[in-house]
Amino acid sequence: MSRRIFNAISAVTLAVCLASLAIIMSVLYTHLYDVQMNHLLLETQLAVRGVELNGIAYFDGLDVNDCRVTWITADGVVLYDNEADAAAMENHLEREEIRQALAGGVGESVRYSDTLAERQLYAARRLGDGSVLRLSAPQATVLRLLLSFGPPVLAVIAAALALSLWMASRLSRRIVGPINDLNLDDPLRSAAEPGFAEIAPLLHRLHHQQTQLRRDQEELEKTSRIRQEFTANVSHELKTPLHVISGYAELLESGMARPEDTVPFAARIRAESARMTKLVEDIIDLTKLDSGGIGMQWEDTDLRRVAENAAESLSEEADAAGVTLTVEGGAAPMRGVTQYLYSIVYNLCDNAIKYSAPGGVVTVRTGTLPGGAVRLAVADTGIGIPPEHQDRVFERFYRVDKSRSKAVGGTGLGLSIVKHAARLHGASIDLESEPGRGSTFTITFPGHAPGV
Ligand code: ADP
Repeated sequence: MSRRIFNAISAVTLAVCLASLAIIMSVLYTHLYDVQMNHLLLETQLAVRGVELNGIAYFDGLDVNDCRVTWITADGVVLYDNEADAAAMENHLEREEIRQALAGGVGESVRYSDTLAERQLYAARRLGDGSVLRLSAPQATVLRLLLSFGPPVLAVIAAALALSLWMASRLSRRIVGPINDLNLDDPLRSAAEPGFAEIAPLLHRLHHQQTQLRRDQEELEKTSRIRQEFTANVSHELKTPLHVISGYAELLESGMARPEDTVPFAARIRAESARMTKLVEDIIDLTKLDSGGIGMQWEDTDLRRVAENAAESLSEEADAAGVTLTVEGGAAPMRGVTQYLYSIVYNLCDNAIKYSAPGGVVTVRTGTLPGGAVRLAVADTGIGIPPEHQDRVFERFYRVDKSRSKAVGGTGLGLSIVKHAARLHGASIDLESEPGRGSTFTITFPGHAPGV
């Protein structure tokens, strides 16, 4: 970075020096032109006086350095030229400075001379007899200027360049030094220090990004921990029925089981297999819900009808448990994923039946609220959930009473599925429960489903 700052400052300095040189040269060039032309006009004036006093004799023995003298008649005929044969020279009437002098007494011009192969300045003055005397001299060109002023100007520029390169090197180190000393673990502290005002917005952004990264990291660690716990729980939950199944199968295989034990053993094997199947189905449901509802079929449906179907499927289980299961309330049209709406009602009713004593009553109520929201309530008269467990029963594999849950065929995933399926529909869950008196789970679906 310091190298780039150094290069940038050096480039700017070099450009400034070259621009200054160009400006100085152009100002000098204009100034010198004026000085040279005025000088030539003055010399012409003096020469005119000489010719008027002495005639052509004035030119005898005239020794002029770097200056050409030409005398021309009012008709443009060259009478005298100190550098060429006057008789061989063409008529000069069309020359710019001659025309000006003939018209107004004084004339001047500058042009490229083919004869001398350089730019020439011309100054001309009319004499009393109407003839014109012209002096000309080569113009000091930019190149000549550069050659004459070059060494001192170049020395100044070289000195300025050397000075600015030294300053550029110091400046770049002074700029980069404090940035290297920044405390990136605590950018806000550096931002508050004097001298960092210009990069304070950058430091604030850095702090913001670091906080965000830390939060993302914690979130990732939490997700990974939950996954690990889930995997460990799943393996454990699957192992238990597998052990039971293989144990009974071994007994049957070895022939050690008495004939009258065969049927109960087979029944245990079937019950454990059913539990395993239910567990695998629940895991598949949860995994799908975890993926955020990608590819799920959203449709217009009636929650009341979904509730009736779920109750219908559970009627045998309710009868076996001696529990009365009823569906009440009106039509509840809504948009949703029917499969998961069914899972919600099924799991809530299944729990309500499982955790109720014979003679208990389970009531499913559906209906709409003003504003279009749809509500489902599943109430039971069962064992209830103690207040300290009410927040946690929606966690995966969390059970209030593990042995009771297993005894009634629970997987520990039912309420977790309810929670995720409700979240998929943007619904809220409310739980009211009193140990010994029963529980009511209320799910409220918003009028406008999020998946639509
Ligand atoms: P499980 O398969 O064990 O029923 P759930 O996730 O469905 O798992 O429920 C978690 C725990 O919440 C259950 O083990 C039980 O202790 C408690 N629970 C759920 N529903 C009820 C209910 N209606 N009445 C009493 N306890 C309940």
